[in-house]
Amino acid sequence: MTKKKPTLREKRKAYLLARLAYFNQFYGFSWNRVSLKKSLRSRLGSCSSLHNLNFSSKLFSYPPELIDYVVVHELCHLKEMNHSKRFYDTMAVALPDWKERKALIKQKSRDPFLVIRTLPEIVQHFFK
Ligand SMILES: [Zn+2]
Repeated sequence: MTKKKPTLREKRKAYLLARLAYFNQFYGFSWNRVSLKKSLRSRLGSCSSLHNLNFSSKLFSYPPELIDYVVVHELCHLKEMNHSKRFYDTMAVALPDWKERKALIKQKSRDPFLVIRTLPEIVQHFFK
């Protein structure tokens, strides 16, 4: 019997779980469930009060640096359910350049055709 090839969706979910695990080394937070959804309206990610993390498939049209921004953003909502200074200070622990990444996300949201070419080889694997 041959091993079933993982679907694109499964690969993307595995990628997000790996990034969450990587960044959670800075925090040690705990979450309940991680979902990858076709659409989250206009949002790229969300964190529920039940500590479920949701990510939009749309995220995968963004380069890995910006995917990481959203991953860390939702991760930090497990601790701070707001966008206070404390929230961004928490983000800065793992992503000292969160501000630059946030500005790029805003730019790309305004111009969906904007291509930010920063994909390293290792990550491209997940976008095949
Ligand atoms: Zn937020």
